[in-house]
Amino acid sequence: MAAGEALQRLVTALAKLPGVGRRSAERMAMRLAVGRRDLIDELLGALVFVQKSVTGCSRCGTPTLIEEDPCRLCTSPGRDDQLLCVVEEPADIVTIERSGGFRGRYHALMGTLSPPKGQGPADLRVRSLVERVRGEGIREVILALNTDVEGDATAAFLEEALRAQPVTISRLAFGLPAGSGIRYSDPLTLERAFKGRL
Ligand SMILES: [Zn+2]
Repeated sequence: MAAGEALQRLVTALAKLPGVGRRSAERMAMRLAVGRRDLIDELLGALVFVQKSVTGCSRCGTPTLIEEDPCRLCTSPGRDDQLLCVVEEPADIVTIERSGGFRGRYHALMGTLSPPKGQGPADLRVRSLVERVRGEGIREVILALNTDVEGDATAAFLEEALRAQPVTISRLAFGLPAGSGIRYSDPLTLERAFKGRL
């Protein structure tokens, strides 16, 4: 394999990561290929550890050690089992936890409904959400989705999917500017959004 071809393989893999465009992936690949052997070792070590020891929690979807599944957020006795916060990505759980404004349980969908990205209901963790709502005695589902077209479409879909369940569904939109994402909100805004949810 020629050097250019090897680099292209790396660029293609890096560009699959969220938030990494083709141009950024090319810059990363160049930096790794030229003069940063120590960084390659560091990355390899971290990647192998994550591959062998970390998994998505079978209940909420957040990363957890394989021997600690379900994760601590799901098993901690100090949290409210009747409140379930639905987020798009596990990274949103980290952001919300940092705000300290929520003490219930979580469920990550792993994306949103997005025809341009080819993501439909089957690609999201919707069935497990409905099963959890049915079986875990949840009385309120809080949709902490981003306030954009995809977030709105996903919220409408989930409301329909949960229609037959005896739960209150609220949307965490109050106080968040339209078009913004949970991950870009500061802790205080998020805390207020939880308190003032509709
Ligand atoms: Zn969990």
